Amino acid sequence: MGCAVSRKKKPQVILSKAKTLVILPGTFVKINDNDFVEVYNIGKKLGSGAYAEVRFCTHRQNKANRAVKIIAKQLLESESAKNQFIKEIEILKLLDHPNIIRVFEFFEDENNFYIVMEHCKGGELFDEIIKHKNFNEYQAAHIIRQVFSCIAYLHSIRVVHRDIKPENLLLEEKDDLFNIKLIDFGIATIIEEDDVQGMIGTPSYIAPEVINERYNEKCDVWSAGVLMYILLCGFPPFQGSTKNEVYEMIKNCSYILDGYGWENISSDAKDLIKKILVPQSSRISAEKALKHKWIVSMLKKDKRDQATMKTVLKNLEEFNAQNKLQEAAKLFIITQLMSTKEIKEARDIFKELDENGDGKLSRQELIKGYRKFASQKDAEDMVDRIMAAVDTDHNGFIDYNEFLKAAVDVKKISSEEYLQTAFNLFDKDANGKISIDELKSVLQSAGEDEVLFQEIIKQVDINGDGEIDLEEFTTILKNVRVSDR
Ligand code: AMP
Repeated sequence: MGCAVSRKKKPQVILSKAKTLVILPGTFVKINDNDFVEVYNIGKKLGSGAYAEVRFCTHRQNKANRAVKIIAKQLLESESAKNQFIKEIEILKLLDHPNIIRVFEFFEDENNFYIVMEHCKGGELFDEIIKHKNFNEYQAAHIIRQVFSCIAYLHSIRVVHRDIKPENLLLEEKDDLFNIKLIDFGIATIIEEDDVQGMIGTPSYIAPEVINERYNEKCDVWSAGVLMYILLCGFPPFQGSTKNEVYEMIKNCSYILDGYGWENISSDAKDLIKKILVPQSSRISAEKALKHKWIVSMLKKDKRDQATMKTVLKNLEEFNAQNKLQEAAKLFIITQLMSTKEIKEARDIFKELDENGDGKLSRQELIKGYRKFASQKDAEDMVDRIMAAVDTDHNGFIDYNEFLKAAVDVKKISSEEYLQTAFNLFDKDANGKISIDELKSVLQSAGEDEVLFQEIIKQVDINGDGEIDLEEFTTILKNVRVSDR
């Protein structure tokens, strides 16, 4: 087969418009036109929220385990509920962070909407709190760092979650406090102006300015502070016999940090709480909280796996983005088909390199990673080359999805099964070829520009018939340089 391809015409490599096209994990998150039950086997109930119930489900074809949030349409009758639901979907499609739940696809039928997302096997952090009563500072710092990392990332893209609490933090695996996921963007919003209005959230975790109905993104920092308090001492900072009593204590920022439960807690931990549970105007930001000495000193105790770090950094070095189709297919395989286990190595290294925990890698953070194995000059040169190849949206950082595309072992990505499934996604009419129109439909975010899509096809179209067959698709995914053939 390989020989047959090599005798055909070489594709034209045109570097222009296609280079500027940005493909994100959300590109593949679409409404599936089939019936939900045709595609998934539905299983036991995992939980329920205000408008929805969440159930376990298994993809009938590829057997992947997922969770599905089922929203009854009759509960979305009011205009505001409907708008909030649309906003939840828009926000979920934007997100790209290792500690934020990943969404795969949506369905709609006469009665319900369905949001299919990754399944977290470990249950709610809330249940862990009940089980443990309180955590040691090392565990608490690890949990809180992950929460602040999510919040700092969300705030950097102007998203406010508005319901940070242990019920909305799930453990990816049982007893694994080091891999938690933030869920439920049901009341999240995007800050359009300076302030957000309206009281929303869960009473014990609500910030004073939210009670007063005029606030900004710092309300999430407050809720994370309440969580941190509970993790350390085992009880909430603001308690009362009525909701109003609790609100009064919150508005007065009235809580204790000594006596029962606090005897053995470090002054650094208390210092961070004091910088969080204060009025909005003087409250620390999530980004600054991540740099607080309590979090930094607690995390220093971690042992690092240098061998894995070296392998993943090597994959980064060897990454070369040949064309957009390859990039899109890789991202589809990583975000939609691969299990968490398969990307775990790369994900853990990303978190380790992301020293300030903001969910993206800066040039400096990468240089620091490479400095363990190279001189300053070599590390800088290497990182500059990597940034040029991997930072495909040119925002000056390596985002989580950009990192995964480059860091996950290409051998894992290019298994026959994954390649065929990814090809089938593009080849909508199943005629064995990807046409320009099919490519347009998968990469809707790129718009309708004919020239752009022609360029993408040409880069991969070895036999020059204007379409991509499985062999051409496989060749490009297996990272064989077409120009070398
Ligand atoms: P939500 O309506 O999103 O707050 O979800 C309600 C409850 O369902 C949560 O508190 C969890 O217990 C459970 N749940 C939600 N999403 C997932 C998921 N991805 N994996 C496992 N359980 C989930």
